[in-house]
Amino acid sequence: MNKNSLLSMKDLSAQDINDILNDALLFDDRYHDWQLPVKKALIANLFFEASTRTHYSFVSAEKQLGCMSVDIATELSSIIKGETLYDTIRMLESAEYDAVVIRHTQPAYWKQLEGVGIPVINGGDGANDHPTQCLLDLMTMKQEFGAIEGLNVLICGDILHSRVASSNKAALELLGADVSFAGPEMWKREGFRHVDFDEAIPEADVVMMLRIQRERGASTGEMSGNEYLQTYGLTKERAARMKKGAIIMHPAPFNRNVEIDGDLVECERSRIYKQMHNGVAVRKAVIKRAFGFKPFEV
Ligand code: ASP
Repeated sequence: MNKNSLLSMKDLSAQDINDILNDALLFDDRYHDWQLPVKKALIANLFFEASTRTHYSFVSAEKQLGCMSVDIATELSSIIKGETLYDTIRMLESAEYDAVVIRHTQPAYWKQLEGVGIPVINGGDGANDHPTQCLLDLMTMKQEFGAIEGLNVLICGDILHSRVASSNKAALELLGADVSFAGPEMWKREGFRHVDFDEAIPEADVVMMLRIQRERGASTGEMSGNEYLQTYGLTKERAARMKKGAIIMHPAPFNRNVEIDGDLVECERSRIYKQMHNGVAVRKAVIKRAFGFKPFEV
């Protein structure tokens, strides 16, 4: 596997994460118009699962960096004729693509890609990992609080099926944050520290809400959206109990009035659209790294 690939947050050291975050912060500030100093950077985006934010912020980052960005229509590719993911990526490599971004339903799909020479950037793999989402979450926290170490981060919702929960757990613990999880009993995840949502809210610096991952089989059964909101979601009453300076996050897409009261999405505490904005800078930093460029000197 190409060493400049980004597959899982669990592969990154604290130094690697900080280097990417510093580059992303500089992209957002000083180096907004910086472009990759290469003659050709042809990037293929392969999304085997629905995506708006990840997909199109990758496209935005690629184009702003001066790359040639190609969306592969995965439903029209030879995968439907039985070609394997490995053979598909080897084909793109043979046709002179320089990097690929892949989102796939299968956890750790990249294990099939040993032998591929070009960098692979993971845009999300099943319930396993979502490194660029996690990095943009960390960037948002860093902008807000200056440092990740010592932050109290409370993540609530469908923990079991969420790759965002899994990536954030790994990175936040590595960086010294205190991370805990809340939500329905049936979506608890082994090895994750679960707490009572109502008790934990006043202590949290960050309350991150997660969507119910229906595409991975999650269901609330008979429970209506409003019942879910009242029992497990972020209502206005719960948000009012958050401490001064605490922020609301959500990787989106959000379902208004299910996991979060619709009015909170754009409230003063919410950083949800800021997260989306940060997604471009983070993806620029990850692409720059994929092409072998060292972190910017600060
Ligand atoms: N967009 C995030 C993901 O792809 C979160 C979500 O879909 O709920 O995992």
